Amino acid sequence: MKKKQTLECCPCGSALDFDACCAPYLAGQAAPSAQALMRSRYTAYVKKDTAYLLQSWHVSTRPASLDLAEDPVKWTALEIRSLSQGLPGDASGTVEFVARYKAGGRAQRLMEKSRFVFEGGRWFYVDGDIA
Ligand SMILES: [Zn+2]
Repeated sequence: MKKKQTLECCPCGSALDFDACCAPYLAGQAAPSAQALMRSRYTAYVKKDTAYLLQSWHVSTRPASLDLAEDPVKWTALEIRSLSQGLPGDASGTVEFVARYKAGGRAQRLMEKSRFVFEGGRWFYVDGDIA
């Protein structure tokens, strides 16, 4: 296999290379935990990967479509605050996080407690409470 030419820190803030972190999940590999799925979905927002966001969204809450092409939000950082379950063997889990972003030139932050379920061998984002 050809060695990759460029290293890119994963947008999710893990300090790993993108290729060693969220890239495999965006490419279709099942995320092993709710936290991994949460991180990969944040990365998908950064990269405006709407197909991945929709496919990792639980069917019960998934929007019909998602258009981020004109989205003025620029995501700048993700910080995981707390985890509850969401590990291999669990049926569900929650991830509490702070996501920082810029909109209209102003720094903002979103605090959310997201719910995830494990179904058919994959984690899915269900919904979240914004703090
Ligand atoms: Zn990542």
